Amino acid sequence: MQIDTDKFVLKALSSGALVDDCNANRSAMLAAAINAAKNAYCPYSKFHVGAALLTITADIYAGCNVENVMYNGMSHAELTAISNAIVHEGSDMLIAEMVIWTPTPEPTPSCGGCRQLLREHIASRSDSVIWSFCDDPTRPPLGMTVDELLPHSFGPENLA
Ligand SMILES: [Zn+2]
Repeated sequence: MQIDTDKFVLKALSSGALVDDCNANRSAMLAAAINAAKNAYCPYSKFHVGAALLTITADIYAGCNVENVMYNGMSHAELTAISNAIVHEGSDMLIAEMVIWTPTPEPTPSCGGCRQLLREHIASRSDSVIWSFCDDPTRPPLGMTVDELLPHSFGPENLA
């Protein structure tokens, strides 16, 4: 996958598509997501996806999609980023914000399975934002909370 990560992030910043309103974390997450996408193992779909999340302890962890020839048990980028964060911070890790990058002309929202997974580990279902960026650095990302991605969701409290 040919993409200059630094140039992409700079162009996104200069175009206003990447509004760094809080701090440099979103730029760093976008760069980490693009770099993760470069390492995706996707010989079957050829769809490189990268994700990077910011934990509430202010650390960034990235992930990419990992496929296999059986086409089942595929690991999406959101899953591998969350797994990476749990490995480093433990099972009570919480996501403050997440960036997903896909090589598409428009932002691609997470699949249903990943939405449920995000619901499990998000710091706030109504405030923590999942940002979907695409291959066009001038296009604003799609930013949605878990409550918007997965309304009336099923969660651990429903098992009680
Ligand atoms: Zn998914």
